[in-house]
Amino acid sequence: MSNGRHRVVVVGGGFGGLNATRYLKDAPVDVTIVDRTNHHLFQPLLYQVAAGLISPGLIAPAIRATIKKQRNARALLGEVKDLDLANKVVKALGPDGRPLDLEYDSLVVAAGASHSYFGKDEFAEFAPGMKTIEDARYLRDGILSKFEMAEMATDPVERAEWLTFVVIGAGPTGVELAGQLAELAHLVLPQEYRTVDTTEARIILLEGAPAVLPPFDEKLQKYTKAHLEKMGVEIRVNTLATDMNHESITVKGPNGVETIRARTRIWAAGVQASPLAKMLAEKTGAELDRAGRVSVNPDCSLPGHPEVFAIGDMVSLNKLPGVAQPAMQEGKYVAKLIKARTTGAPIPPPFKYFDKGSMATIGHKAAVADAFGYKFTGFIAYLMWGFIHVAYLVGWGNRLGTLYNWAHSLWFSKSRGHRIITFERTMVELDENRKKGRAPVVLPGSKPSLADEIDAAEGAPKTA
Ligand SMILES: Cc1cc2nc3c(=O)[nH]c(=O)nc-3n(C[C@H](O)[C@H](O)[C@H](O)COP(=O)(O)OP(=O)(O)OC[C@H]3O[C@@H](n4cnc5c(N)ncnc54)[C@H](O)[C@@H]3O)c2cc1C
Repeated sequence: MSNGRHRVVVVGGGFGGLNATRYLKDAPVDVTIVDRTNHHLFQPLLYQVAAGLISPGLIAPAIRATIKKQRNARALLGEVKDLDLANKVVKALGPDGRPLDLEYDSLVVAAGASHSYFGKDEFAEFAPGMKTIEDARYLRDGILSKFEMAEMATDPVERAEWLTFVVIGAGPTGVELAGQLAELAHLVLPQEYRTVDTTEARIILLEGAPAVLPPFDEKLQKYTKAHLEKMGVEIRVNTLATDMNHESITVKGPNGVETIRARTRIWAAGVQASPLAKMLAEKTGAELDRAGRVSVNPDCSLPGHPEVFAIGDMVSLNKLPGVAQPAMQEGKYVAKLIKARTTGAPIPPPFKYFDKGSMATIGHKAAVADAFGYKFTGFIAYLMWGFIHVAYLVGWGNRLGTLYNWAHSLWFSKSRGHRIITFERTMVELDENRKKGRAPVVLPGSKPSLADEIDAAEGAPKTA
């Protein structure tokens, strides 16, 4: 693709990378956007995939489709393994493992973040998190399978374990997940099960800080807590997960240490920047913070490398939160800067963030929002939340499809149209589990096989 024009390589097709690419559409440059997935993921609605409310495709359009009209951009499917800043080459591997060497004149790294278990990486086996489409599908399989298991359990103690869901972390994602679990158990599923009363489900939300939604205003925190409790969610603040296994979680809170029997634990607590942030820090001498984010200059460039930019969740800049708006605005900013450099236009001043507020949805027609200097709660906040999220989805088809799903599920039938349990790659892990004499579980990286779980649970399925 090199024809003497300025070459820009963008690593990551998330909020930051896609914005950088799109805002370069009128620049005299050739852009290559490389991502290890083929889709641009709208992470804020992942929890709705996990709850079977919407289908994955609605929030994950193909990256190449999002830039199909942008003639100066191309998309490549590849995992970036190395950033050779000295020779200005990005080294990636294609889907079949073939090496891809991508030469650049400007580089934008927007590789995002993944989960952090705060040094307790062993928790990953027992409490999967949610960052990718695969994660959300996996959680959906796991959550729905637990209700199926409860339907078959004859022992009330075991049934209670299948029906106990613990969400760790009460930030927006944890709150949204807990709300969805409560809706599933109390509104959607009760009519469909014959043996189990799904309203007996226990949904426990753990938070280490003194309140839910820690960064939000106190009024919004109180509203969220009260609303979740009304929905049947048990909230425990000042409480930390100290241990867990496939059947339980041990927590330490104001009332001491307690072990809760629960077959489902979901991690919604910490984030860790992409390893590419550490790579950039090591190669440029930039600082790395505790979440593994690399410090960038006020114009998002790396020390000693004005042609290399890092943006979004993987950077630390002006104490900005790891949410979509900073990533999008930084993407737009670096595109403007590269365009100015390549056209001779005035160089823009350092990046300045415009705070558009924050919001979180709690459940059926309720949300909280902090925007335009005001605090909103309830249905009005829910409408604001819905409007903003739909507006930022990529593609009209996805926007309309999402609206249709919401309307159908929330207003007309209280159903969840995408409650599919997919059974893939499970046999080996479950066999290993059985050999170890463990109770059936949903393992990270595997998909639950209901038949195997039943088999492993009690020898043969029993219905009451
Ligand atoms: C469950 C969840 C809910 C959220 N809810 C909200 C919300 O309600 N509001 C809000 O503002 N923010 C929310 N966020 C945060 C928001 O999604 C992120 O801040 C935003 O996605 C950051 O954008 P980014 O471009 O930095 O990274 P991402 O959007 O994560 O994009 C990173 C991209 O880089 C790719 N990549 C990573 N490593 C490599 C590699 N080595 N090679 C090639 N490609 C690579 C990834 O595949 C990905 O496509 C949520 C996040 C999650 C996980």
